[in-house]
Amino acid sequence: MCVEKSACISILSFVPGKSLFSLREMDDFVTSHSSFDYDVIIIGAGLTGMYALYRLRELGLSVHVIEKNGDVGGTWNMNRYPGCKLDSESYTYAYSFLDDLLQQWNWKREFASQPELMEFFSLAADTMDVRKDILFNTKVVKAIFDEQDNGWTVELDNAEVLRSRFLLTCVGALSTPNMPKYPGMDMFRGETYHSYYWPHDRNGYGGKRVDFRGKRVGVIGTGATGVQIVTEVAKTAGELYVFQRHPNWCAPLCDKPISAERMAGIKQRYKEIFAQCESTTSGFQHDFLHTSAEGSTAEEREALFEELYGQSGYGIWVGHYADAFTDPKVNGYITDFIASKIRQRVKDPAVAEKLIPKDHGFGLKRVPMESGYYEVYNQDNVTLVDLMENPIEELTPEGIRTRNIAYDLDVIIYATGFDAIIGGLKEMDIRGVGGKTLKEAWENGPFTYLGLQVPDFPNLFTLVAAHNGATFCNIPRCSEAQVNWVMDMFGHIVKTGIERVEADERAAEQWTQHVYDVANETLLTTAKNSWFWSEFGKGTQRGHRLLVYNGGNPAYRTRVSEVEANGYEGFLMR
Ligand code: NAP
Repeated sequence: MCVEKSACISILSFVPGKSLFSLREMDDFVTSHSSFDYDVIIIGAGLTGMYALYRLRELGLSVHVIEKNGDVGGTWNMNRYPGCKLDSESYTYAYSFLDDLLQQWNWKREFASQPELMEFFSLAADTMDVRKDILFNTKVVKAIFDEQDNGWTVELDNAEVLRSRFLLTCVGALSTPNMPKYPGMDMFRGETYHSYYWPHDRNGYGGKRVDFRGKRVGVIGTGATGVQIVTEVAKTAGELYVFQRHPNWCAPLCDKPISAERMAGIKQRYKEIFAQCESTTSGFQHDFLHTSAEGSTAEEREALFEELYGQSGYGIWVGHYADAFTDPKVNGYITDFIASKIRQRVKDPAVAEKLIPKDHGFGLKRVPMESGYYEVYNQDNVTLVDLMENPIEELTPEGIRTRNIAYDLDVIIYATGFDAIIGGLKEMDIRGVGGKTLKEAWENGPFTYLGLQVPDFPNLFTLVAAHNGATFCNIPRCSEAQVNWVMDMFGHIVKTGIERVEADERAAEQWTQHVYDVANETLLTTAKNSWFWSEFGKGTQRGHRLLVYNGGNPAYRTRVSEVEANGYEGFLMR
């Protein structure tokens, strides 16, 4: 049944020459899918959704993507705030399979700025010709599993209803922004921005330029986003007030331009670079030392930390002793080192102490990478407001009133983060077998098999989502691997005419337990005020549950390869 003519792309219209399957196999598949508008609906046209669309089309399936924003690119399309840039090395962040584009494209800096990245992914979308199959500026409101037909009915906010056999969510881990609820927020007379909703520059790939010169600016939030905004806005603002609840451990990004000569070398080494990222725990080129810090002297540790602190990128987080994440004493070595750096860099000792986290060790929350963040607090135009001592009570027409002081402001910037990882799914009413909602299924925390499927939600696949291997990783590397694996499964589905794929309850129980067991071996459990965690459950059962899988990229790849080799064990297929 086609609801709207333009939306109808039958599998029959697929060009057979491009298909990876024989006409006979395709015919069998078509017959069994005749009551659907599409074989697959994908929600989200970020990096993962675009690639999944491209690969599913290659398989000969009819695919339609629903994207709530106005263009492809997901996080890089939306976060256009001042100072927004990568902290993964640019050349590790690309689609590895677009050889021609990689050979044409010259990265300008080791860590690309948001406009540079958005331009790259826009070109990638052109290269893959994906925009024609994407419905932009449209939200999925509801998705209901139809047990008779083994498919999904998907309701959109434009009142359209579409049906597909399979539903893939590629909604991103950080796509549902968090806005505080202070009394009087609508009273403020100045300019207000949220980092995620930064106005777009209509003539380019970046954000609209906001002139902060001479203005009194307040930034709320000091995560990776706030750190980048503060560093940039401090360059021109008349007065900048940074409203900090909990400080984070930050480390130098050490960004620099990429010379033509270096870029030529990168182009030759792309295969090697991607292979290296595949082999490391976090999908970066950096990887842990496989020796314990306990065998080292204080001088050796200091020299290593010093070297990494002066190097580009995440070596200082994921390029030294692995036991810094499991042994409190070893974590103390790196934590003390970073604290001493903050004390050296911030002139006022009282301000330095406020910038040093006291509630968690270094690396146990996502480390914001900075480019002169701490030095900003040595400037006369910058004031750190400690919200733990002096909480915000309300917004007024003039600015922000804390318990002790009223700050008159011209601009307020919210850098207050996201309802991470599960927020994108929570925005939709997803109902599986017997009308069970995803909210009910996850009442006590994410309950998944491999982070990819939820029991009682057949034919629904959640990519780069809770408890799967792609979320706690240099995302494009692990997202690409995840799409590849799921596409292999779809190849099997098409070939064998499978109509229903569902996670086995027992397999999901074991995987969920495994996720928690792995985390319990680490110090991550000591840093729960982080978007890696969220609260679930009722009454005495209420508590924080980990949202990511921290077993690492190679372990996850090995596990899913074994599952595939064992005939997709843990998935019920018929
Ligand atoms: P975040 O790390 O969750 O930080 C949110 C900040 O807002 C925290 O400082 C939080 O304080 C504060 N906050 C939240 N609600 C508040 C309230 N009501 N009043 C006062 N403060 C409040 O979010 P984020 O900075 O947007 O970063 C999220 C993730 O996005 C990063 O960890 C990273 O993975 C990604 N990111 C990446 C890049 C990059 O690649 N370069 C750049 C930016 C972001 P508390 O800590 O007290 O809750």
